[in-house]
Formats: sequence, structure tokens, C-alpha cells
Amino acid sequence: MILFSLVCSREHGFEGWFKDGAAYESQAALGDIICPVCGDHQIRKAPMAPCVHTGKAVAAVPAEVLREAMVEVRRVIEENCTDVGAAFPTEARRMHYGEIEDRPIYGQATAKDVQELAEEGVEVVALPWMRRQDG
Ligand SMILES: [Zn+2]
Repeated sequence: MILFSLVCSREHGFEGWFKDGAAYESQAALGDIICPVCGDHQIRKAPMAPCVHTGKAVAAVPAEVLREAMVEVRRVIEENCTDVGAAFPTEARRMHYGEIEDRPIYGQATAKDVQELAEEGVEVVALPWMRRQDG
């Protein structure tokens, strides 16, 4: 995950997490990134200079801390969502098109699946899936 400092066309600064630089580019191109202050879709990366401190702070987070955070994310997802496994892209589509009732799900999807779902307007978040130490 990468943290980018972003700015809208009205100069509101905010930050967003992205899987990688390409994920930012594609979401920005699709207008999927929205200014939390004014709702503007015209988002660009903030100039680098004001981001120095943010960049250092992110880089200074020990890998172990990030790993624990991702394990926590996994725990919350597993407690609140249904594991549909490899059927995830199919199930997410069926919910999006109203064929089945909406419910929180998680499962496996390839990067290509995620991109296709996003292109169809299905709200999907791709997360690195951390192995738990107890299992
Ligand atoms: Zn704005």
C-alpha cells in the first residue's frame, strides 16, 4: 500500500492509500477519487515538497507494525463478512446487479478480476492478505 498526498482542483489537500502507483493512476483516470471536502473528482498528486514529512513518517513504520495492522484488518473482515472464496467476483457482480441480496463478502480475486469489477462500477477493495500466526 502507498500513501499519496493528493489535492483537488480547489486546492483541498488530503491523503489516500493505494495498492500501488498504477492503482492510483487508474482510479484517478476513472474519476473514482473524490475530494472529501468538496466532492471534486479532479484530483492530482500534491507537489512533492510538502509531502516530505508524511513520506518519512510512512517509511518509518516498522514492517512488523504494518503486518499486525493487516492481521487486524483480516480479523475484522473475517468476523463481519462471509467468505465466498473463489466465487468472489461472481458474487460481487450478482450483488451489484441486484440478482442477490447485498451482504458483506470477501474472497479471492485476481488483479484482473478486481480491475474488471471496478470498471463495472462494483465497489471492491483489494487488500494484502496476511497469514495469521495462529493458523
Ligand atoms: Zn476539494
